[in-house]
Amino acid sequence: MNLAERDQHIIWHPYTQMKTAALPVPIVRGEGALLFSEDGKTYIDAVASWWVNLHGHAHPYIAEKVAEQLRTLEHVIFAGFTHEPAVTFAERLLQILPAGQSRIFYSDNGSTAVEVAIKMAIQYWNNLDTPKKKIIAFRDSYHGDTFGAMSVSARSAFTAPFWPFLFEVEFIDVPTAGKEEESIKQLEKLAAQGDIAAFIYEPLVLGTGGMIMYKPEVLDKLMAICQQHGILNIADEVMTGFGRTGRTFATDYLQQKPDMVCLSKGLTGGTMALGATSCNEKIYEAFLHDDRSKTLFHGHSYTANPVACAAGLASLDLLLQPETQESINHIAQRHAAFAASIKDLPQVLEVRQQGTILAIEFYDGATSYFSDLRDTLYSFGLDNGVILRPLGNIIYVIPPYCITDAQLDQVYQTLKGMQEIVAGKRQ
Ligand code: PLP
Repeated sequence: MNLAERDQHIIWHPYTQMKTAALPVPIVRGEGALLFSEDGKTYIDAVASWWVNLHGHAHPYIAEKVAEQLRTLEHVIFAGFTHEPAVTFAERLLQILPAGQSRIFYSDNGSTAVEVAIKMAIQYWNNLDTPKKKIIAFRDSYHGDTFGAMSVSARSAFTAPFWPFLFEVEFIDVPTAGKEEESIKQLEKLAAQGDIAAFIYEPLVLGTGGMIMYKPEVLDKLMAICQQHGILNIADEVMTGFGRTGRTFATDYLQQKPDMVCLSKGLTGGTMALGATSCNEKIYEAFLHDDRSKTLFHGHSYTANPVACAAGLASLDLLLQPETQESINHIAQRHAAFAASIKDLPQVLEVRQQGTILAIEFYDGATSYFSDLRDTLYSFGLDNGVILRPLGNIIYVIPPYCITDAQLDQVYQTLKGMQEIVAGKRQ
């Protein structure tokens, strides 16, 4: 049996209907933006392996730093103990996070970074003896798969089996062009009720919801309303962080400052599982108390794993190099030029772009999460050596920053081919 067949006998894959799924692609090696399969094929990782990979696969600098840390200290309990990588990484993160962020709480993925933020927000109000439990989120948001993160995410077919167990959340419209006033009005109305603990949002780009983009000015307005009513605001930068939107964080485009920031994915450049939730001193201080019940009772066995923190430090070194910043700008420019070239094609409803994130929305109904056409487009990408995972009728590109011009050309060519397939199916 080859690797894919052995896999099929014992493994249950995420977000995969195992009854109908094709055999998984067995990857044996990665280098730069490329992945190599057991059967000798080469793929461009145009989705950065679920938006995590920043500097390319098997990056020698990160590999070296990780190996060094593994040989020194692989893990230690993080309650009552600390270590160099966790402290240095936190110091360096706080240097680049939006002004006012002063504390880092580590976890191990994006969902847990969100869980921590939600728990901090709710317990913050409890600790101040003014309990508030309601959270506001965007209608099309995605914040993760754990129960708290699912609760603040859009209600969808994915979450339907669990609805009885998801806590109640107030949803407002995403303030896309034309919907800004409505979204602001909805938030104002909810804020006036006086019982809202926090507002959680994906700044500028809603990822899984369909790469939906909106302007920083309107987010500033929403955050100002929160500020006015004492509502905490949580920026979920799990996808947008570390250069994806063209600046280090999407919140760098804002005047207002978040109370908390959730980080993961690019936090280690896509090498190790790590999450982090930062907060400002106001939140942290609400937990400093003689009454021990006011403690944040949260933590994971692998909290602040030293090897993951070392990977994060190495990835940050690479991110802040001028060449990486140039690559980010270069990808953004190339995306913009490509977007302009295809926006008037017959099957293209909209092309959206923010920094290194590019999304093409085909006409509504052209395909859906569950349609055969989605699978056809996905297979077409693989057949053309490009990994592209359609989100319903939306195809997006979020490449590693080391992607070459030739590789980007191949990705764009494949997107054009997909447009032709959609055109063929709709005729
Ligand atoms: N928040 C956002 C904005 C995300 O895009 C995701 C994942 O796609 C998550 C949270 C959850 O992250 P993870 O898959 O690491 O749990």
